[in-house]
Amino acid sequence: MKTLEEPEILREAREKMVHSQIELRGIQNAAVLAAMRAVPRHVFVPSELVEEAYDDCPLPIGEGQTISQPYIVGLMTTLLRPRAGQRILEVGTGSGYQAAVLAQMVGDVYTLERIGSLAARAAQLFERLELGNVHVQQGDGCLGWPEAAPFDGIILTAGAPQIPQPLFDQLAEGGRLVGPVGSRFHQMLQVWVKEGGRLEGEDTIAVAFVPLRGQFGWGAEEW
Ligand code: SAM
Repeated sequence: MKTLEEPEILREAREKMVHSQIELRGIQNAAVLAAMRAVPRHVFVPSELVEEAYDDCPLPIGEGQTISQPYIVGLMTTLLRPRAGQRILEVGTGSGYQAAVLAQMVGDVYTLERIGSLAARAAQLFERLELGNVHVQQGDGCLGWPEAAPFDGIILTAGAPQIPQPLFDQLAEGGRLVGPVGSRFHQMLQVWVKEGGRLEGEDTIAVAFVPLRGQFGWGAEEW
């Protein structure tokens, strides 16, 4: 990733965010901490929110969507257990921040976003940061990215009624899938592992995400 010039105050805010919001809350994975120290979160938020980029909360990114709270990004990345050389699929590019964090740790990140303007903006940012290992496409992430499958890990960053079957199908043997499942009022962050062709899932913590839309997502009248 290209290192951008940035005001010292933002670099310090990022350091502080990683220490107080991520490390002190129990995330010890050195690669996750290093990736979150490296990626300039402030370029992924709308320009009028740059001063809030390192705050302990999600932020609006337009089109009614959000960039997730830094802690949730750190937690989901840790639960995914990304390793060098892996191929990861993200459903819900949003701002592109989560994909950029993962791109520091793995071989390739494939990320799908339903809303064209968000996909285009993220693509520009990946280019500006010279993140050549992130591949972004506009489309319904419920269907996965069959041409690039199988994936060693899949991260779903919108709340689903249940995990879309194509994502399970595109998960490699030994792969992990992390994502929120549940309604507008109650979602659990789930972790799934595929072993011996069998899938095993478990709930972790309660979370609040925007809805997954598309073929296996929530309909407009349901959420
Ligand atoms: N990972 C993002 C980031 O780092 O900024 C945050 C994602 S935001 C919480 C959820 C995103 O999922 C939104 O941008 C939304 O448009 C997208 N989304 C919802 N349903 C989708 C679908 N079926 N396929 C692809 N993207 C979808």
